[in-house]
Amino acid sequence: MKTFEELGVAANIRRAIEEMGYENPMPVQEEVIPYLLGETTDVIALAQTGTGKTAAFGLPVLQKINVKENVPQALILCPTRELCLQIASDLADYSKYIDNLRVLPVYGGSSIESQIKSLKRGVHIIVATPGRLIDLINRKTVNLGDVKHVILDEADEMLNMGFMDSIDEILSKVPDSRQMLLFSATMPKEVAKITKKYMESPKEITIGRKNESTSTVKHVYYMVHAKDKYLALKRIADYYPDIYGIIFCRTRRETQEIADKLIQDGYNADSLHGDLSQAQRDYVMQKFRIRNLQLLVATDVAARGLDVDSLTHVINYGLPDDIESYTHRSGRTGRAGKTGTSIAIVHVKEKGKIREIEKMINKKFEQGTIPSGEAICEKQLFSLVDRIEKVKVDEEEISNLLPSVFRKLDWLEKEDIIKRVVALEFNRLIEYYRDADEIESPTERSSRDRDDNSFPRRRDRDQRPNGRGAERGYSRLFINIGRTDNVNPATLMGLVNDFVPEKVNIGRIDIMQNFSFFEVPEKDAQKVIKSMSRQEQNGRRISVEVAQGGGSDRGSDRGGNRDGDRGGRGNFGASRSDRGQQRRNSDSRSKSSSRPSDKDKGHRKGRKPKFS
Ligand code: AMP
Repeated sequence: MKTFEELGVAANIRRAIEEMGYENPMPVQEEVIPYLLGETTDVIALAQTGTGKTAAFGLPVLQKINVKENVPQALILCPTRELCLQIASDLADYSKYIDNLRVLPVYGGSSIESQIKSLKRGVHIIVATPGRLIDLINRKTVNLGDVKHVILDEADEMLNMGFMDSIDEILSKVPDSRQMLLFSATMPKEVAKITKKYMESPKEITIGRKNESTSTVKHVYYMVHAKDKYLALKRIADYYPDIYGIIFCRTRRETQEIADKLIQDGYNADSLHGDLSQAQRDYVMQKFRIRNLQLLVATDVAARGLDVDSLTHVINYGLPDDIESYTHRSGRTGRAGKTGTSIAIVHVKEKGKIREIEKMINKKFEQGTIPSGEAICEKQLFSLVDRIEKVKVDEEEISNLLPSVFRKLDWLEKEDIIKRVVALEFNRLIEYYRDADEIESPTERSSRDRDDNSFPRRRDRDQRPNGRGAERGYSRLFINIGRTDNVNPATLMGLVNDFVPEKVNIGRIDIMQNFSFFEVPEKDAQKVIKSMSRQEQNGRRISVEVAQGGGSDRGSDRGGNRDGDRGGRGNFGASRSDRGQQRRNSDSRSKSSSRPSDKDKGHRKGRKPKFS
């Protein structure tokens, strides 16, 4: 293995990265750095996130910048705001000892004026998401005529997100003589097309095998009936008491529903998806980064910007439509030399997809068995014992209380005390699981007889507490704005009046923290949905849909409730502030040692957030 010095990295950059703890180059850096420092040909690097690719392109590009020329000389394009900020911040760290070098992150969702001001002052490197850069190009506030290096980071993600046209437009503004670098975790056809179109005899560097998933990741699938998916998820979460992971769902709606159910069941979980505002997403991501949150339920797109190295698990709540996304999902665990597990909870019809993924990642899945109640109890028990062993005792703080505690327990033997501590924590858990049905693994035949809902059947959902529907003759609608967006009943009525051409009677309104519900006559529901969806309110795109179980109260298939913040989008829709309260409640309940059960949906008391 070579050192950074042997790779040709300049002393002022080495000093900065040594301070950051980079002792030796990572494989992608060893491959890419000397090539970029020495050559001007184009390079394609197939590397996953977390492999050290930012420094692989960042260090040589920084070294090649001439700070005396006050113009953009390098352009880095990436798919998300979060990655953009991450790259810019890494480059700022690497260039700590290069005087006057300026890096500007350019991304949507923040003030364009301040970005224009910085551009006018002069920058050397622009790190941009394509949409905002196009905006700046159109305003003629950025000139790419002196760019010598273009880096497309996470090219496959950018194309997945529909940035092809923007990339075309941006590259047409950059001189043909530029050197181009393309980083991608996978090489789907669309990426191959870009390389053909824009790169000349590129040097291809592959870290690991093409399309191969990280070798430190174990892949496990659990096959269950569609109706059991959520119960299986809970059992898996229960079986790994120290789990710190992302649960990937396919749609925003499913993401919210699963997160709400988990929260209601007492797990330390939250959701991340595109119906949340940027501020809400930042808040959730930060909570997850600092491990105040154990389970993050997310869509693929929303999770893209999240840079977390130490996930123990990635859970696929169903497989993604596009199997390439599986590589991205699973690549989020097993990073930085750690091992991780990528779990897929699948229906029997998805077995073919499992085989396809195995071919793509060049690795076999293990078939897991959903843990039995007994196994979960045992696992939790040992986790408790482990915590008792390792807990840090603050002698000083408890010294005053201890004598009376000792006096009170004086009559008990050590073994008795241990038994009681264990019983205190576990009686309820054991009791719940004792009578819980084990989850049956489907055979191909039995599954054909069942429906393929990706969520528990309506009948099961209607068993939730407090289930009620809309007023007779009315439909209950969900809208993705709430108190956080300064919405109150009057503003919501105003919005309906503004956006729906004809007059509509509005029934009950429930404003939640991040979303709301309102009822309109059944005959007007579709008109309201059509007129309001995709409109904007304070820069936020509105989405309106029929609430889960949102019809009127006549049939059995009705959901929603009227308990203000406890209601909503099915009955899972506790607001974010309520979730905090639920967590606090759950913390205090944990002291009285209740525990979860599959039977006891919605009452998984006693889980202690491990990270708070
Ligand atoms: P990246 O793939 O660029 O997101 O990098 C993944 C992680 O590895 C980041 O936390 C980097 O700070 C870290 N990293 C990158 N290069 C090195 C290195 N040579 N030695 C130690 N850590 C590194």
